[in-house]
Amino acid sequence: MKPESNDKMAELYQAVILDHNKYPRNFRKMSDYTCCHQGYNPLCGDRLDVYLKIGGDNETIEDISFEGEGCAIFKASASLMTEAVKGKKITEAQQMFEEFRHLLLKQLDPDRDSHHLGKLKVFSGIWQFPVRTKCASLAWHTMQAAMKGEAGQTKTE
Ligand code: ZN
Repeated sequence: MKPESNDKMAELYQAVILDHNKYPRNFRKMSDYTCCHQGYNPLCGDRLDVYLKIGGDNETIEDISFEGEGCAIFKASASLMTEAVKGKKITEAQQMFEEFRHLLLKQLDPDRDSHHLGKLKVFSGIWQFPVRTKCASLAWHTMQAAMKGEAGQTKTE
């Protein structure tokens, strides 16, 4: 890729992140959730509650929402996560998280090795800012804890 197209990609990715920060999707408290969990990132101060409604088959994420406060990367990541996993099977969501984690650690080439990421590729450049990877992964860790039915609060180390 030419540097010029890399820049365009970065601009596009940034635009998606800014949009989801300004207008977070599924940003609401859920009353009929089947599980919920709280997450906190002490490095940055990001905090959220993730609400999940798992279907009667115990496999499908029928609905997901979140509420919280934090930086743009955190909020955009939580918003994009809810969009990505809504209506999906729990196993698919876990595969997405696996790929997303590898993306954040630069252990995955988003153009070659990604099968589930879709829009989540906008976080491709985050590995350059190690502190920000905690912001980007907080919602995912919190969702996973909610699905496992863990009590208490999830903290990024
Ligand atoms: Zn943050």
